[in-house]
Amino acid sequence: MFVNFIPVRMQLELNEQQKMIRNMVKEFAEKEVAPIAAELDKKGEYPTKTLEKMAKLGLLGIIIPQEYGGAGLDTISYATVVEEISRKCASTGVITSVHNSLAAWPIIKYGTDPQKKKYLPILARGEKIGAFAGTEANAGSDLGAMQTTAHLKGNKYIINGSKTFITSGPKAGIIIVFAVTDKAAGPKGLSAFIVESSMKGYKVGSIFEKLGINASLTSELIFEDMEVPKENLLGAEGDGFKIALATLDGGRIGIASQAVGIAQAALDESINYAKQRQQFGKPIASFQAIQWMIADMATRIEAARYLVYNAAYKKDKGERFSKEAAMAKLFASETAMDAVIKAVQIHGGYGYTKEYTVERLFRDAKITEIYEGTSEVQRMVISGSLLK
Ligand SMILES: Cc1cc2nc3c(=O)[nH]c(=O)nc-3n(C[C@H](O)[C@H](O)[C@H](O)COP(=O)(O)OP(=O)(O)OC[C@H]3O[C@@H](n4cnc5c(N)ncnc54)[C@H](O)[C@@H]3O)c2cc1C
Repeated sequence: MFVNFIPVRMQLELNEQQKMIRNMVKEFAEKEVAPIAAELDKKGEYPTKTLEKMAKLGLLGIIIPQEYGGAGLDTISYATVVEEISRKCASTGVITSVHNSLAAWPIIKYGTDPQKKKYLPILARGEKIGAFAGTEANAGSDLGAMQTTAHLKGNKYIINGSKTFITSGPKAGIIIVFAVTDKAAGPKGLSAFIVESSMKGYKVGSIFEKLGINASLTSELIFEDMEVPKENLLGAEGDGFKIALATLDGGRIGIASQAVGIAQAALDESINYAKQRQQFGKPIASFQAIQWMIADMATRIEAARYLVYNAAYKKDKGERFSKEAAMAKLFASETAMDAVIKAVQIHGGYGYTKEYTVERLFRDAKITEIYEGTSEVQRMVISGSLLK
């Protein structure tokens, strides 16, 4: 006997608006992002002009409410934007993700009215690029071990310390910075601040040479008696750890989307190549070994994308989504690595050269297993929520 239909508590198909956004961004990425991606990677050049064009389309304020000049879109739309941009350039993808979900989102969620009015329109217009500064030389997975300090002096916080591996570090204008305001309180003694790069005592340190995502500049940030107005404290003193964790939950949906985009690009390239490349008098696509790699890549990508949509859907419904975001990020990043390894294999020797896109994808994929929580950290989050 059939029971009543129970609505599925996840979204398996994009609605009309989400489809329209995906198609618009796909077209934009093909026209504006793809042609310059290899060159920017080679030169380690930040995609400034692309970001200006993206700002005009509203893509730097995707999740920012319309009243602050943003597009006010949902998280699934945001995920499709990051996926389609990353499909053509993973560097531009991560800049978009960090700007929206690690810089704008904590202001949307925890900001005061004046903070929202002051900073969100600037981020939405892309006048300033956003960054998130949590990691320190001795505080990576263990963010609670950070040593940067902030203390109130008159109407200003004085911040001292340094951050490392900050995406968009050399270019960012608005940075969410985390610092210790009460050492004795441990992680509950961390606070979050909205910092502007023009503030006295703010300095960009070394820019890292990296394996991949070379066009997304990654640097140290150094704070020497940096003066931050008291009103730039985000949330209350002591809220920093909570804000960091909640922000990273959402950020992981962005990185999972970046990983799906990289994996999809690896599949796109592999299908094209396998149909063209002839060996033993036939296209290599006619060999079962190649067909199975293509089938496995496509299946994992589809599964990863649904995990992303599921986490995004729960976030939009206001439900807890930490576990789902961790699952999406873990599975999508491992899918990206699996896909790029197979893609290079399908391309044979040519895939090992810079003549072919899969070489860049191979280098770009690895970071998705590391930042915004390594795969080990994602497994800790998932198991922690199951074993509590
Ligand atoms: C290109 C790039 C961009 C980045 N962008 C940003 C940014 O914009 N903002 C920002 O704040 N940070 C950023 N990061 C930092 C990134 O989030 C950290 O590198 C990451 O969280 C890991 O920290 P870590 O490098 O110190 O590694 P560690 O924490 O030292 O980890 C080293 C290894 O030990 C494992 N490990 C650690 N603890 C445990 C444990 N308890 N159990 C099991 N295994 C464990 C890790 O999984 C990893 O395999 C970026 C990093 C890179 C490389």
